[in-house]
Amino acid sequence: MLLLTALALAGGAVLTAQAPPPAYDPSKTFAPLTLPEPINSYRSSNGAPGPGYWQNSADYEIHANLDTTRKQLSATEVITYVNNSPDMLPSLWVQLDQNIYRKDARSNSIFGRPRTDFSDGIVFDSVEIEPGSHAAKAKADYIVSDTRMQIRLAEPLKGQGALLKIHIQYHYPIPGVWGGRTSWGMSKKGEIYDMAQWYPRMAVYDDLHGWDTLPYIGSEFYLEYGHFDYYVTAPSNMLIVGSGELKNPQEVLTKTQIERLTQARSSDKTVMIRTPEEIDDPASRPRGSSTLTWHFHMDNTRDVAFSASSVFVWDAARINLPDGAKSLAMSVYPVESVGDEGWGRSTEYLKHAVEQFSRKWFPYPYPAAINVAGFSTGMEYPGIVFDGIPDKGKQLFWITAHEIGHSWFPMIVGSNERRNAWMDEGFNTFIDIYESDEFQGGVYGPKRDSEYSAGGEPPDTILKVLNDPAAPVILTRADGFPFRLGHPVSYFKAAYGLRLLREQILGPERFDWAFRKYIRDWAYKHPSPSDFFRAMESEGGEDLAYFWRGWFMNNWTLDMAVKDAQYVKGDYRQGVSVTIANLGQLVLPNTVQVNFEDGSNARVPLPVETWISKGEYTFTLDSKQPILSVVLDPDHVIPDNDRTNDVLKK
Ligand SMILES: [Zn+2]
Repeated sequence: MLLLTALALAGGAVLTAQAPPPAYDPSKTFAPLTLPEPINSYRSSNGAPGPGYWQNSADYEIHANLDTTRKQLSATEVITYVNNSPDMLPSLWVQLDQNIYRKDARSNSIFGRPRTDFSDGIVFDSVEIEPGSHAAKAKADYIVSDTRMQIRLAEPLKGQGALLKIHIQYHYPIPGVWGGRTSWGMSKKGEIYDMAQWYPRMAVYDDLHGWDTLPYIGSEFYLEYGHFDYYVTAPSNMLIVGSGELKNPQEVLTKTQIERLTQARSSDKTVMIRTPEEIDDPASRPRGSSTLTWHFHMDNTRDVAFSASSVFVWDAARINLPDGAKSLAMSVYPVESVGDEGWGRSTEYLKHAVEQFSRKWFPYPYPAAINVAGFSTGMEYPGIVFDGIPDKGKQLFWITAHEIGHSWFPMIVGSNERRNAWMDEGFNTFIDIYESDEFQGGVYGPKRDSEYSAGGEPPDTILKVLNDPAAPVILTRADGFPFRLGHPVSYFKAAYGLRLLREQILGPERFDWAFRKYIRDWAYKHPSPSDFFRAMESEGGEDLAYFWRGWFMNNWTLDMAVKDAQYVKGDYRQGVSVTIANLGQLVLPNTVQVNFEDGSNARVPLPVETWISKGEYTFTLDSKQPILSVVLDPDHVIPDNDRTNDVLKK
């Protein structure tokens, strides 16, 4: 909103206003910037992986049993771990995320109270090491500390490609709905199991922190890439959907279901695989044995998750990817979610989002994209997302697009979510903006989400965050955001920063080129914040130190003001002299518009260099007409902290 200031004419002055003295210090905004992570042979100055970049890998083979009577998962797991680093590893760190549910978990100190619902976490039946030297398997020497386990090796694991295997037998009680990201719960007709963080997995050993052992106290994950083969045995009346590709449909599905899946693979319209009417029909499951084993496989992934239920309705449709590639969108949901208002459109939403993100940013690499209606809602895993049973319409579209968008950040681009929430939630919230704008001509758009403010649209909603003295900066460790400010800063401020970068600073052509290269360069790898900053500068073609410092490392605000406008020698025919003051510490490219009496106007761009050595800028503009007003940011596209000084009006 613009507040217009009426001013009296005095002498030759047409427009005059009082601005507070400039507090802006150019030497702060434009000082040289040292980014947090260094340039070396692993990470190049152009933001791409360096010639010496390395990354360790972990392949998993897991045989799990889902015991729905005891509410317990038990499994045997073999991890093949390859140490590609130049370092010898005397020990290995493994993540045990189920231990977050223990009564003595460290995470309780975050919530300020002991859990009322808790579990024993992961219970080991055995942990063994099989050295790569073909020596026999031997009992592992390990200690457990909160959500981590350190295995101390008898022989250090050599670098440059040496490998070993870890054999683990374990079980854990499956949390109820209170489990949050993983749970079992009761829908109208039966139980739904959302199984995530369900196996011990390797912590990341990287060139930035060595073993990155931040405990699981609430923030998400940082995981190695590898190939997964996992087998889940469950009661035969259950349907299971999981990350990756189902390898044995002939053993776990009916002939009809296999035929319908084949049909879905060539259909852009959603095809029912199991209808609501078939849920109570025993013929909708193979007969014969009391349990069935489902085998899933997934390549180049950092994680896998699955859902199981006897009451899933199931539908699917083809996903069309660049260069003729295909994938499959699928949704499973209980009967209460059926209908075009609700989950009847989930697969359509999923398909559109995956196709759009693939076209715009990077082709979706996985064989399926699955949306599950259950109790662990609003959570993402590679190729599978968990959303809410009651989600409907716009809400279901938004959450589906958002959660599957995480397949790009952080599932393909493997950022460290536990340290850098903004490279996960911020990037993903940013790409959501364009998906909402494009789906059916923007019927569910615009999505410029800020739960921080009730209603309103950027750029002004962000001002509440920028002016909140309690607001952390974007470069805050993920667990360090107070609950109230986690979403506004790590999702919204970060996403809006990318939007400013794309639409106001670089322009879409330069931004998209650089961002796509960043995604390609870091697909299935581990970029740091500095890699992103350098990549956008180098390929975007702009020194952005002022923006990283102002927006990501500080909560600086922008406040530009029209300070003065005078006709040259008191005569409008000789031109008008306009003075703009920069009062805030944040600078962005801006525009001044001079409106003339005949309805015409003239625009003058103010690049950020305007402010590189000064806080006030006076320019002279030709004017054949008396002027009506001088306006800053006429299209209302930048977050100016004080709009009352953005206009001078006759
Ligand atoms: Zn998210």
